[in-house]
Amino acid sequence: MIVTSAKINLLDLDRRDLEAFFVALGEKPFRATQVMKWVYHERILDFAAMNNLSKALRERLAAHAEIRLPEIVADQASRDGSHKWLIRLDSGNCIETVFIPEADRGTLCVSSQIGCPLDCSFCATAQQGFNRNLSTAEIIAQIWLASDVLGDARNHNRLITNIVLMGMGEPLLNFDNVVKATELMQDDLGFGISKRRVTLSTAGVVPALYRLREVSEVSLAVSLHAPDDALRNELVPLNRKYPIAELLAACQHYIADKPYRRITWEYVLLAGINDSEQHAHALAKLLKNIPSKINLIPFNPFPNARYQRSGTAALSQFQSVLTAHGLTAITRKTRGDDIAAACGQLAGQVQARGRRVERRARLAS
Ligand code: SAH
Repeated sequence: MIVTSAKINLLDLDRRDLEAFFVALGEKPFRATQVMKWVYHERILDFAAMNNLSKALRERLAAHAEIRLPEIVADQASRDGSHKWLIRLDSGNCIETVFIPEADRGTLCVSSQIGCPLDCSFCATAQQGFNRNLSTAEIIAQIWLASDVLGDARNHNRLITNIVLMGMGEPLLNFDNVVKATELMQDDLGFGISKRRVTLSTAGVVPALYRLREVSEVSLAVSLHAPDDALRNELVPLNRKYPIAELLAACQHYIADKPYRRITWEYVLLAGINDSEQHAHALAKLLKNIPSKINLIPFNPFPNARYQRSGTAALSQFQSVLTAHGLTAITRKTRGDDIAAACGQLAGQVQARGRRVERRARLAS
């Protein structure tokens, strides 16, 4: 018996990789253009149907490659029009992808890891532990599947106008696969989403931010959540490694010489923890020299959460302090919370949990 090596999934390849793949097969690089149009524009995944390729090439492709999507195993619709899909990747592991329609845009929130290795104290994904990074194909498949279900592919009436890497996981800890996936999101031969409308959200992996600037033009959202290191160390433990001053310097570098860019700061409001007027003044002081937009996120509860959402009075007070300092601050509307699809509620199904999660489970039992 001849043992053949595993087939390459073409969804793992961005345009450059795909051209190199065809050159390695002894073909011209423009075959990549043809195949990408089939896959991302025509939604054809079967090589046999790609009728502008010779029959011989179609057969060689079928022998060496595949275009494999994971499977949607649950599709929940919220009262407010949001959707959450549970996508099965392999035995026991599922991730979640969320679509949020608004009057002027449709945002798809995609995951970058199965679970998350960061241990942010207010986030449901943290409780799941970490299994592994997603491949480029698994990231890009979330968009392919969502736009297919929403009918984007068929009627060209684009419902997905924005993509945010704000689902499960820390995208900058899965750097190469995430960057490749963002290329495919932005490529005209891929999903053709404009650069500014692809946003990566990070808890602040500082060295990766410097690398990102060199290779990508995604918009940046940063999960700040506290104006000082003592508090941020508690909420976002990654801060102990990369404290606020280093994070802000990396963010400033990211947008330097990009006149139309600013950083979106995410700030989850936790009652009695980080939502006082003093916190708001300290936050404004911290950000006063950085082109910024602040996204205030009401805390979304989940089972065993140890925090509560700030009251409306605290929220509007916090927001007006920021505005009085001349900052742009908006409150992110809670969407999809009836189906646990809101920020920080994504849990998926994660196998092979880490020691941290096992310890927690022992303590709880
Ligand atoms: N790891 C990345 C990507 C996740 S984005 C990051 O930290 O940015 C998810 C966003 O939702 C982050 O800003 C996160 O801090 C926020 N979030 C997490 N848990 C939340 C909760 N329970 N309520 C509201 N927002 C939450």
